[in-house]
Amino acid sequence: MNQHVASGGTAEAIAALVSRFGDRALTGLSVRDLHAHDESHHPASRPDIVVFPNSTEEVAEIAAIANRYRVPIVPFGAGSGLEGGAIPVAGGISLDTSRLDRILDIRPDDMIVRVEAGVRRQEMNRQLRDTGLFFPVDPGADASIGGMVSTGASGTNAVRFGVMRENVLGLTVVTADGRIVRTGSLARKSSSGYDLTRLFVGSEGTLGIVTEVILRLHPIPDAVSAIAGFQTLAGAVSAVIDIKRAGLSIGRVELLDEALVAVINRHETLALAPLPTLFFEFHGNPESIATLSDVIAAIVADHGGTPLRWAKNADEARRIWETRRVGLGWAKAERPGAQSWPTDVCVPLSSLADAVLDTHADIRASQIPAYIVGHVGDGNFHCVFMSDPDDAQEQAEVHRLAGRIVVRALAVGGTATGEHGVGLGKRAFQEAEHGAEAVALMRTLKVALDPLNILNPGKILPELADPEHSN
Ligand SMILES: Cc1cc2nc3c(=O)[nH]c(=O)nc-3n(C[C@H](O)[C@H](O)[C@H](O)COP(=O)(O)OP(=O)(O)OC[C@H]3O[C@@H](n4cnc5c(N)ncnc54)[C@H](O)[C@@H]3O)c2cc1C
Repeated sequence: MNQHVASGGTAEAIAALVSRFGDRALTGLSVRDLHAHDESHHPASRPDIVVFPNSTEEVAEIAAIANRYRVPIVPFGAGSGLEGGAIPVAGGISLDTSRLDRILDIRPDDMIVRVEAGVRRQEMNRQLRDTGLFFPVDPGADASIGGMVSTGASGTNAVRFGVMRENVLGLTVVTADGRIVRTGSLARKSSSGYDLTRLFVGSEGTLGIVTEVILRLHPIPDAVSAIAGFQTLAGAVSAVIDIKRAGLSIGRVELLDEALVAVINRHETLALAPLPTLFFEFHGNPESIATLSDVIAAIVADHGGTPLRWAKNADEARRIWETRRVGLGWAKAERPGAQSWPTDVCVPLSSLADAVLDTHADIRASQIPAYIVGHVGDGNFHCVFMSDPDDAQEQAEVHRLAGRIVVRALAVGGTATGEHGVGLGKRAFQEAEHGAEAVALMRTLKVALDPLNILNPGKILPELADPEHSN
């Protein structure tokens, strides 16, 4: 990988940061190790220093120092990313946002909240609970809001409430040279100016450092959950498409292949039928859901599904979704020492069944344990390989299989990443997905906003042959 950044005075930058931030600018090995990796399979790489700013103004000061000495800055949220986005591949400053943890303004009547970027989503939702509102984007991990903005996160709720791009109304961003920029507004919609908010959403710390976020909130819905097993994976996927086309109000719908169902059955008491399975959540009042349930049961049966098993109470519903959250962890534990390597393609709904079946065929033909889970209502699924990180042959095989999944997704007009972001792992597919001209335009934007290439270098954009121009 090309890790070129403009030549630089790392030692001078460290001295300036330690002098300005004292014990909030740390160079010890243990703190640098903690900021050398995320939750992905990508190799760790230490920053030279980790800095913990307390405010937007302090972030701007850090950017100005990095700019002066031409040292990389890599924002670090909760480090739960799955594509290596927060790994400082060229060293430099890891800018840890954990002290930017204030909830600044809860506005129930406007149904919005303004928070600092380091706020964790679970704590934010705890603080919102009394308002009857919540922030629905749920990437499974207890991620920071700034990290979720920067990866364009989504998760199980996206089929109903949309992804980060639809739920961020405005941002405060520090630019590469230390300017503070506000984007968007408190209004729920706007046609004013270039949409800078959405330029920064999904930019993975390569265009600016997010310090504050205005989010759209939603009423906490009445919900009921249910489970159905299917004779085939294709049946499960096509049932979801028919339920969506019927306009029925799905809150969440998650696919688990039969291999993961088998793991779950070894670990706890949901006692699932040993089949590809869908976990459903439907939104609406009890009367409307009662009316819907017959229609849903008929669609499920038409696609070879078992009768729906409805959660009898909130505890049972919680157990279903907790099982979805921890199931892959159980699968990983079944292979001690395994590393989890998730793929993340998203395809048009009409291509989803084929994409899942082709992936299933690939993994059954391989010896490496792998599981398919999917936010199938959005056409997004993950094939998660549990591979041996010390077995070079196995790593090469996972790399090959993961690449095939992406290539097939792109061939039907899909994307290499539905929600995890490009980071390190999907850079090589950017040109195939977007085309050379679009990637060149992205590079133009990057150079305009970060001419010295100090913001998270080595991420998103594919390598260039000429290191002088590598962004
Ligand atoms: C068990 C598990 C399940 C997951 N499931 C999902 C899922 O269903 N859906 C999903 O979308 N993701 C999922 N993820 C991935 C992860 O939680 C998301 O990518 C999340 O958005 C990362 O947030 P973070 O705070 O951990 O960011 P980090 O990992 O710290 O950083 C991610 C990227 O954002 C940049 N960044 C962080 N903060 C800022 C900032 N303030 N300004 C600018 N750039 C910043 C970093 O430089 C990096 O490029 C899962 C992760 C795990 C471990």
